[in-house]
Amino acid sequence: MISFGTSSTRSEINSGMEVSRSAMIRGVPASPGIAIGKAHVLELEDLQVKEKQLEQKDLEREVDRFKTALGTARNEIETLRDTIEEELGRDQAKVFDAHLMILDDVVAIDKTTSLIREERKNAAFAYRKTLSEIADELDLAKDEHFRNSAADVRDVKRRVIRHLLDQPRKGLGTIAGQVILVAHDLTPSEAVSLSKETILGFATDSGGRTSHSAIMARSRGIPAVVGLKSVTARVVSGDTVVVDGNRGLVDVNPSEQALQEYGRRRQQFLDFEGRLLDMRELAAVTTDGHRIELSANIELPEEVELALAKGAGGVGLYRTEFFYMRSTKLPGEEEQYEAYKRVADKCYPYPVIIRTVDVGGDKFASYLGTARENNPFLGWRGIRFSLERTEIFKIQLRAIFRAAATGNVKLMFPMVSSLDELRQANTICKEVKDELRQRNVHFGENCEVGIMAETPASVMIADSLAREADFFSIGTNDLIQYTLAVDRGNEKIAYLYDPLHPAILKSIRTLVEAGHRNDIWVGVCGEMCGERVGAVILLGLGLDEFSTSPYLLPEIKTVVRSISYAEAKEIADKALCLSTAAEIRGFVEEKIAGKFPQIPSP
Ligand code: PEP
Ligand code: MG
Repeated sequence: MISFGTSSTRSEINSGMEVSRSAMIRGVPASPGIAIGKAHVLELEDLQVKEKQLEQKDLEREVDRFKTALGTARNEIETLRDTIEEELGRDQAKVFDAHLMILDDVVAIDKTTSLIREERKNAAFAYRKTLSEIADELDLAKDEHFRNSAADVRDVKRRVIRHLLDQPRKGLGTIAGQVILVAHDLTPSEAVSLSKETILGFATDSGGRTSHSAIMARSRGIPAVVGLKSVTARVVSGDTVVVDGNRGLVDVNPSEQALQEYGRRRQQFLDFEGRLLDMRELAAVTTDGHRIELSANIELPEEVELALAKGAGGVGLYRTEFFYMRSTKLPGEEEQYEAYKRVADKCYPYPVIIRTVDVGGDKFASYLGTARENNPFLGWRGIRFSLERTEIFKIQLRAIFRAAATGNVKLMFPMVSSLDELRQANTICKEVKDELRQRNVHFGENCEVGIMAETPASVMIADSLAREADFFSIGTNDLIQYTLAVDRGNEKIAYLYDPLHPAILKSIRTLVEAGHRNDIWVGVCGEMCGERVGAVILLGLGLDEFSTSPYLLPEIKTVVRSISYAEAKEIADKALCLSTAAEIRGFVEEKIAGKFPQIPSP
């Protein structure tokens, strides 16, 4: 937690008791870096649409005007789609295909034209009525994806109405000077026009790490915090705002002293980033020559470029569920194959570990039949889902095995808690491979198949799992939640969620030893390896690979390159003899104090 600038007023604001001109708001860190500037609050567009009664003689001209507005909107959307496809790839551009579908919706067009022809309404009123009704219905849908598409319908509605009213959108391009953009959310079209020249940083009420605007911010290097819930209510244009994308904090009207501190940190971050670029090509090797693999976790295929640019030696975890969750229907084999192959080709010859879909828990997709459960993290998630919905599982396996023909793809199952599950999954893999062979489809025969070790049960039966899996990748995020019985998303008990709890370190040691005893490699792909104390201990525990967010890779590489393996082992051994997380943290921090002077303190 940041140690300056806090005050009682701020905590009152955070508990929602009082509106003040100063606030510290916590959200989701979406794009790293620190931005300081004057806020520009993006108001929701106020398009004044009046209801008019037209004369009979004007009706056909109004219908023509409506069709022209649709055509102009179409041209705009197509241009946006092409720009984004060029910049970020096909997958990101798909949202504009959805906008074109909304624009072309025959029912909406017919309804609007009949409101014009039969009820003699003006086109802007008729189209607004038609699309508002559709959006309102979508708002009520049970399915999250339908609900999300209400925003797209409203985006299209505003675009067409703007043309009918001849009121061109004051896009982000018209913002004068350099500002911190504060908005409820950014429409896909606004996100596309984010420019580093004018937008120093941005903060939104809604959105998550994989929302469109977050992805765009990362790809353009604009610091951003999303999911702030109430930032638009607490900031007015002209306020001084700090967006700390490293920590997910937004500080509104901070004190002079705090501003200076932010300025210092900002400069430190920029200097550090600059220096780290020089490290991209260097290996993650300790001062005494022990080498580990350093890979990146990605959620979307287009993130692979960023990962490589940050010096990743492969992808240690490709979370494929985000791919499923962005669709409104099951992604087909070809679509999946293309996404996986794109990542594999980009990474070649470095390895790519593709994890089969880990829906359930906090990730829902109702078209997959997952529903809200009383204990979702203990429910129908990960491999449990795949073993029941084998038709969906097989499509994904086929796509992965085909992509594995490149030779650098590995496959991994999430949430394994028994040997039966691993055996069943392996049997299905064998069936899929047999089918591919019979159909003469080219695929990766030798694709390694491993498991995420992330349940306490997998720790206890690590030896038998290691005999039948090709590798382990330790998912510390879940291993901590299940071992310590602490919901990883519950803020109230977040203080109990501690990677340095002795039970966690002992579990990791058990997994590493069992893996190595059975000649398989053991990596870690949870957040624990993206933090310097965690990284030192994991290095000392003998992990073969770390996989973390691309943005953390240079820092973690610096840690690995600044310490000897012998020293890290000694630290880990001693840490394992201590009894509490606090003792362990204190001990390791003391041991590594001053070791990484190049890394700015958090
Ligand atoms: C983990 O549990 O540590 C992990 C990497 O998987 P996820 O965060 O996707 O559950
Ligand atoms: Mg997990």
